Amino acid sequence: MLKEQCSEETSRIADELEYALEKRQLSLHYQPQFEFPSGNIRGFEALLRWHHPELGSISPLRFIPIAEETGLIDSIGMWVMHQACEKIRQIQKSHLPNSIISVNISAIQLNNPFFFENVMNVLHQTSIAPQYLELELTESTNIACINNGTDTLRTLALQGIKIALDDFGVENNSLLQLQKLPLSTIKIDRSFVINMMHDSRCKIITEWVITLARKLGLIVIAEGVESFEQLHQLRQWECEYIQGYLLSRPLSEQELLLLAKSYL
Ligand code: C2E
Ligand code: CA
Ligand code: CA
Repeated sequence: MLKEQCSEETSRIADELEYALEKRQLSLHYQPQFEFPSGNIRGFEALLRWHHPELGSISPLRFIPIAEETGLIDSIGMWVMHQACEKIRQIQKSHLPNSIISVNISAIQLNNPFFFENVMNVLHQTSIAPQYLELELTESTNIACINNGTDTLRTLALQGIKIALDDFGVENNSLLQLQKLPLSTIKIDRSFVINMMHDSRCKIITEWVITLARKLGLIVIAEGVESFEQLHQLRQWECEYIQGYLLSRPLSEQELLLLAKSYL
């Protein structure tokens, strides 16, 4: 019974997602990434939100996999990129000229033969220089797609676009990806940040990841930092960039503009 209910809801979400864009039910929130210890803003991660009039707020963790299955991820993903680049343009022009926009990419999008062209068009239309766009790839989605998309990623990286490996350490392929992908950034998964405080092995691994990334010339962002204790530990390891509820939750457009203004 529960299973049937679940699949009914899944197919309803799939049906309604198709119209969510045109009905303007999708929006973006922006979570700042802070440079540490200066407190300067490096940039913002764009996070998709879906507010359904009857079902309420639906988590991207719920609807992104459905968008991937139905193929809607291509149009939704490009909409996200366009909106996010437009917003960062506004922020760059008025308040924070060098801020980066990080956009989550489903590995499946890399299979679209027009992906490269579409990304370049967005940059052109929004007048964003390539070095201010970062594409966040999560290895937990579809490793085969990432492998097939490596050439596309290389071409994008050659243009100056930054490639980040999201949720680093969650999958057992992390080290291979470090070797193969044209990365500029890794994001240490929240589970490491949580566990490093009470699990000595996790502590050693997290410190080692930060050192390794530095040796490889990569930027490291620690995700999901929620406590001063975690912040202090990351500071001791000279982790330069921090993202998490402690410093800021994802912000609505209005809140984003207010925060940016405070940096004037
Ligand atoms: P993610 O890319 O790992 O994004 C970080 C998630 O952690 C976000 O959840 C964010 O709100 C949450 N978060 C940030 N700081 C903290 C913290 O200190 N504590 C806790 N507990 N959580 C924190 P959100 O917005 O629900 O997004 C979930 C996932 O959905 C994202 O994980 C990403 O994989 C996916 N997603 C979101 N937007 C997009 C999108 O535009 N495209 C694609 N393909 N995936 C997206
Ligand atoms: Ca992400
Ligand atoms: Ca992540």
